[in-house]
Amino acid sequence: MKPRILAILLISLFALGGRAGAGAPKEAPRVRADKFRIIDAHEHVESIKCVPKLLRAMAGAGVSGMMLVASPEELLGDVQDSKKGFTDPDANNEEILEIQKRHLGVFFGFATFAPDDIDMLEKLKGFIERGGTGLKLYNGHYDFYTRFKIPLDAPHLMGVYSYCEKNRIPVVFHANARLYWPELKRLLDAHPNLVVNLPHFAMSLITPARIRELFDNYPNVYADVSLGYFEYAYPSLEFISSRTSLIGELIRRYKTRFLFGADMVLTENPREDTIYISRMLTGYRNLLEKRRYTSILIEQFFSSLGEKKTEEIGYLNGLGLDEDTLRHIYELNPRRFLGLARD
Ligand SMILES: [Zn+2]
Repeated sequence: MKPRILAILLISLFALGGRAGAGAPKEAPRVRADKFRIIDAHEHVESIKCVPKLLRAMAGAGVSGMMLVASPEELLGDVQDSKKGFTDPDANNEEILEIQKRHLGVFFGFATFAPDDIDMLEKLKGFIERGGTGLKLYNGHYDFYTRFKIPLDAPHLMGVYSYCEKNRIPVVFHANARLYWPELKRLLDAHPNLVVNLPHFAMSLITPARIRELFDNYPNVYADVSLGYFEYAYPSLEFISSRTSLIGELIRRYKTRFLFGADMVLTENPREDTIYISRMLTGYRNLLEKRRYTSILIEQFFSSLGEKKTEEIGYLNGLGLDEDTLRHIYELNPRRFLGLARD
């Protein structure tokens, strides 16, 4: 218990120090943790052993449900070079299915398969028949796309999209909507009822026109707000910080299409404890809810440079979204995405 108490104390002291200093950043009124029943749309876990710490952190961060997307070992850190391949996704598919079964209504499992797996459709059917929720694809992830050289609209995938479309199976599809737009557009045109989340603002944060194009033309397309590992996340957070009115306006205009998520890749590593998880979840809430905020992602970025977070470098401008928009992102959209409710 002692190290944890110490950690909480240190975090509290740091937070107090941040607020008390001269020129301390102003924060929007604190949103109570229990104000929303958030369903998080995008996290990775290595195994069922991560669930207790995850549940504790979720309770503290106001997150009542979570979509868990399966990962190959390359993502979970068991294989060093992510360009090598797509190792043993079935092991994680099984873990995630088991988590969903043991916590029905709390966790929603999304199976994944290698981009070139020609048996993907049969395997996915099996996963859904056994109680799984959806499909996670990495085909439009730059590393896997360049490794496998499989177009997003390859024939073996079109059958998978048809099955998902017909049976309303939601798909979390890491697809870069800037790099692979012609392919993505072809498959969305061919499957207009496919329900799909394109994570990380569809990888198109720097081109909001692409996001508008997606949402205007494809009513079943969603995008989550997660930004990945801190190295990638920080430049995006900085980008948002310098354009809060542009991005805020985009999100408010398409408030029925954005989903909440932190895209954590949680392993059994004890460093990824309850505090770490809750700070990741809270960091993303801060980005959406506050006008000025800090986040563990900011802290990780500066400590990787050997710099300590200070008030000058440790705070960014947040979006300060209104309650109605937040309710859509946190509660209504994920439920509609999952097919639990329609509005
Ligand atoms: Zn992810």
